[in-house]
Amino acid sequence: MEHPPQRSAETKHECPQFPATGVSLSLTHSKLLRERPPWHLEIQREATESDLEENHQLEAVGDTIWSTVLEVSHCPYCGQGLPLLPGERPADFGRFTHIDTSGWLSRRV
Ligand SMILES: [Zn+2]
Repeated sequence: MEHPPQRSAETKHECPQFPATGVSLSLTHSKLLRERPPWHLEIQREATESDLEENHQLEAVGDTIWSTVLEVSHCPYCGQGLPLLPGERPADFGRFTHIDTSGWLSRRV
């Protein structure tokens, strides 16, 4: 049986091998600000109680301290290929960014 290429209804890869928190792999809401974002791995570090004690710029447990976003074609945890039609792969695929919000939180006040 042949399977035609399809834009999967899947927009999130829920991997059994992800760590308990901090990692997500999805096709939407990229911080790389693409019109049509390809699959991207996002690693987020959320503030814990002890982070709040050490860094007074942080306000609440669960606040994002930093996040890193990287465009990927496969899940780096289980190796599964992520469905993407050829036209959906940007020419400069593979972009990445790192966003540090620990200082920004203090300036928000
Ligand atoms: Zn996976």
